[in-house]
Amino acid sequence: MEEPIHVIGHKNPDTDSICSAIGYAFLRNALGDAEVRPARAGELNRETRHVLERFSLSEPDLLTTATGRQLILVDHNEVAQALDDIRHGTVLEIWEHHRIGDLQIPSPITFHCEPVGATATLIAEQFFLHDIEPPPAIAGALLAAILSDTLVLASPTTSGKDRRMAPRLAALAGVEVSEFGAELMAARGDIATRSARDLIDADFKAFNFAGHRVGIAQVEVPDARPLVTRRTELLEAMQRVKNEQNLRQAILLGTDISRKGSYLWAVGELRDVVERAFHCQLTDEGVFLEGCMSRKKQVVPVLEAAFASVPAG
Ligand code: MN
Ligand code: MN
Repeated sequence: MEEPIHVIGHKNPDTDSICSAIGYAFLRNALGDAEVRPARAGELNRETRHVLERFSLSEPDLLTTATGRQLILVDHNEVAQALDDIRHGTVLEIWEHHRIGDLQIPSPITFHCEPVGATATLIAEQFFLHDIEPPPAIAGALLAAILSDTLVLASPTTSGKDRRMAPRLAALAGVEVSEFGAELMAARGDIATRSARDLIDADFKAFNFAGHRVGIAQVEVPDARPLVTRRTELLEAMQRVKNEQNLRQAILLGTDISRKGSYLWAVGELRDVVERAFHCQLTDEGVFLEGCMSRKKQVVPVLEAAFASVPAG
């Protein structure tokens, strides 16, 4: 058998990384490329597990190395979020909705990046452009990814295209958008019963800002007060992640969906840079950033600019 081409999302995979991989591999198979398979770069979170069970989809293959493999990347395009040895793999395509990162690819490839709410929106669009109707399970998985990334179409990252794709997918999957969205948010689990480390690992990303390794975890909840109550435990867990991943700075965003803003905490040597970036004084209680809901749109660019003036050391 020929070596498969794996479609893979980022480390600490979320629903968009997993379901975009499943959806895109399915589309390529439907178009006649039988050798394309979905993959994952880590353990599934609860919400994603719920989605796969609900639509009877199997867990993608776990990949721990990129060396010698042919890969299609979805939902990421920077080295810090990819398999560690990504530079030793062959990247054939990228489907994305984040900032353009630092992965250099020596030959021309399909690199499709749009400022939409979820990679799954772009994958869904490809089904429709190719006149291929996604089966209910695939439509449901793609819809789940869109609703997960956009907090049920409420995040400031939500685009017109997300709003157009969601109802089309919902009709094919036989679900109702807001009802299914509520089911997904509930599947994330009651934060009171989850460990601090589980809360952080469910959505953690590393970045390279001008040579500084910075990690940003985001916990999105209907009401962030329980996070404030558990801040000591959460900051200890962040400190452990910082050490394990050799980060100069680790940041935790506790996003309060109903208040439409995020608490900000930081552990590391460069707290002053974070303070300058957000014009705030960090405290253990957490600083509340009014209107800040999106890591990719409202946090990453601000930190990137602030770290740019800090000499790497
Ligand atoms: Mn993602
Ligand atoms: Mn995404």
